Amino acid sequence: MKKSIGGVAIAAAMSLTACVSTPKQELGVGIKLSNLDTLVTPGNDFYEYANGGWMKNNPLTAEYSRFGSFDQLRERSNDQMRVIVDKLQKEEQKEGSDSWKVSVLYKEAMDSVKRNELGVAPVQPLLDDIKSLKTKDDMLDMMVRLTKLGMHPYFYLYVSADSKNSNLNILNQMQGGYAMPDRDYYLLPETKEIRDAYLVYMTKMFELVGKYSPAQAKKEASLVFDMEKSLAKYARSKAKLRDPLTNYNKVSMADACALVKSFDLKTYITKLGMSVDSINLGQPEVLNNVAKKIASSSIDQQKAYLMWRVIINTTSILNDEVAETTFEFFSKKLEGIKEMRPRWKRALSFVNGTMGEAVGQLYVAEFFPPAAKQRMVKLVANLQEALGERIENLTWMSHETKEKALEKLKSYTVKIGYPDKWEDYSKLYIQDDNLWANTQRIAEWDYAKELKKLSEPVDRAKWGMTPQTVNAYYNPGTNEICFPAAILQYPFFDMTADDAFNYGAIGVVIGHEMTHGFDDSGRKYNKEGNLENWWTKQDTENFNQEAKKMVDFFSSIEVAPGVKANGALTLGENIADHGGLKISFQAFQKALKEHPLETKDGFTPAQRFYLAYAGVWAQNIRPAAILNRTKTDEHSLGMWRVNGALRQIDTWYTAFNVTAKDSLFIPKKDRVDIW
Ligand SMILES: [Zn+2]
Repeated sequence: MKKSIGGVAIAAAMSLTACVSTPKQELGVGIKLSNLDTLVTPGNDFYEYANGGWMKNNPLTAEYSRFGSFDQLRERSNDQMRVIVDKLQKEEQKEGSDSWKVSVLYKEAMDSVKRNELGVAPVQPLLDDIKSLKTKDDMLDMMVRLTKLGMHPYFYLYVSADSKNSNLNILNQMQGGYAMPDRDYYLLPETKEIRDAYLVYMTKMFELVGKYSPAQAKKEASLVFDMEKSLAKYARSKAKLRDPLTNYNKVSMADACALVKSFDLKTYITKLGMSVDSINLGQPEVLNNVAKKIASSSIDQQKAYLMWRVIINTTSILNDEVAETTFEFFSKKLEGIKEMRPRWKRALSFVNGTMGEAVGQLYVAEFFPPAAKQRMVKLVANLQEALGERIENLTWMSHETKEKALEKLKSYTVKIGYPDKWEDYSKLYIQDDNLWANTQRIAEWDYAKELKKLSEPVDRAKWGMTPQTVNAYYNPGTNEICFPAAILQYPFFDMTADDAFNYGAIGVVIGHEMTHGFDDSGRKYNKEGNLENWWTKQDTENFNQEAKKMVDFFSSIEVAPGVKANGALTLGENIADHGGLKISFQAFQKALKEHPLETKDGFTPAQRFYLAYAGVWAQNIRPAAILNRTKTDEHSLGMWRVNGALRQIDTWYTAFNVTAKDSLFIPKKDRVDIW
C-alpha cells in the first residue's frame, strides 16, 4: 500500500504559469506574516503561533468539515481545472478522442436535469436481477457480476505486485465489504448513535432506489446491517493492517480452497476469468469467517446485501434525491459537513476518478513549468544526500544494517510532475447516452486491465496518483517516491521564495516520503521492493524501542474531550514527519553554507523553516471530523503534525529558544530520536 503525505487524494491545478485566466489567483510569497498570531508564545502553542492568523482569516465554509492550506490549494486549482473542462465543452472535440470522452463524462455528470428525469431507473434492471435470484449458485454468479463492476461484495480481490517477488503480479484478497469507514462504527458503544442513523439512511435508500415499501425497506436494512456488522467484527483493525508481513500469506489455490471450505473460491475465481495457481490471502482468518457467514446466511439476507452493494456504489451517478440522502449520512452525520459541494466540483471529481490521466495531460500542458521540475530534482538530490548522512551517523544502528539502508536509499526511483508514459484510453468505449451506462463501461474497462495485469510483469512506470493530485507518496513495493505536479505550488513549493521556505515546506514533504521507506512498515521491504528482513536483531530492537516511544507519546494526546489519538495507527506517518523534519533541516543547513540567508521580518532562517513547515498544516476542523479522522486517518491531525512533531526536534527548541518553562517543552532525554 502506498503512503501519502496527506490522506485523501484530491484534484488540483497549477497557478504559476497560468495561460488561461482564472479567478482567485494568488502567487506564493513565502512566509505571510498575516498567517501568524504573534501574541502566542511559540513554545506554548507553536501551531497557534504559526497559524492563528490563517485560522482566523479562513473560517470553515459549509461545504467543509476540515479546511486547511492543503484544501486552499485544491480550491485554487479546481478553479483552473474548471476552465480546462469548460473549454473542452465549448470547442468541437474529435469523437472518440480522449478529450471528447472527458468532455462527455463531465457534461453527463453536470446534467442534473437528465439525471433527475431518469431517476433511479437506470439501476433497476440490475436490482431486479438480484431480486429474482433463487439459489446459492445464482448468488455466486451475481457476486461475479458485481465484482466485475468494481462493487466488491464481502471482500476485495485485486491484482498487484507479489510482496516477495515485486516484479511479478499476483491475485490478492483483502478484507472489506462494509460501507461505513471503519469497523469501530459497527461495534463500539460510543458509536451507537451513528449506527442508528445508518439504519435510518439504509431504510430510506431501500425505499428510494430499491423501490420497497417502508416496512420492507426496514427489513432489508436490518438484514444488511447484520451482515456488515459480522464483516466488521471479523476484520482486523486499521492499526493491525499496517504490518505487511501479517498481510502476506501466499498459498496455492488448492490450499486457499481448502482453507475456505464454506465458499466455492475456485469456481468464483474461474468465473471471474482468472486462471491462477496461487493467491495471496491478505487476511486468511477473516476470509474464512466471512465464508462461514455467507454459507449460514439466508438467501434473502444475501440478496439484500448484494442489492446494498449496488445501491451504495451508485449514489453519485443517479438523481439528486439519492445524492442528497447520502450526503445527509456520510457527510453531515459522519463528518459534520453542512452543505454539499457544488455540482461542478463533484463532476470534476468524477472525471478525475475515471479518466484522471487524460485530464492530467491537459493539465500539465497548460500549467506545469519545467523550471519547477528542475528545482525539485535538485531538492530531492540534496534531501537524499542528507538522509544518507543521517543514516551514517546514527548511534543506534550497526554498520551492517547501515550499509543495506544506504543501498536502499540509493535505489529510490524518483517521480516528479507527470508520468513519462500516459494511460492508454483508446480501448475505453464511451458513448454520449447516460452516466450510468458509461460508468458500467468504465468499470468493464478497468476490470479488463486488471485481468491483463495477471499475465504481465509489474509496470514500474505506472503512477499511483494523477499529476493534478495535491499529494505525494512512497510505494514500498517499487521503492519509489512520487511528487505530482499539483503539489509543487504554494504553500508547499514557491519558486519565488528562498530556501528557508522551500526546505521547511516541500523539503519536509520530500524527506517525509523518503522516510516512509524506513518507517515501521516500509523498513520491512528491501531495495527491490520485496518483503525481506535486512535488519540485525539488535537494530530491530533498537528501532522498535524508539518507535514505541512515538506510539506512547501520540496515544497520550487528547484530541477531543475524552478522545485520545491512535499512536499505533499513525506511527508510520508520525515517523515520516519526524524524519522529514530532521533530514530537510540538515539539507537546509548545507544549502545555507552555499547561499547564506539573512534574518527577514524579524525571523532567522531557521525560524522561517519551521514557520513554513507549520503553515502547510494550518487548518480549521469540525468536532465530527476530528472523531472520524482519529478512527480512519493514518495521519495525525494538523495541529499535532505541528505541536506533536516539533517537540521531538532539538533544532526547533534552539530556533525559538523553547525552555522548560514553556508548555510544549519535553526534556531532551524523553524526546523521540529515530532518524
Ligand atoms: Zn506519509
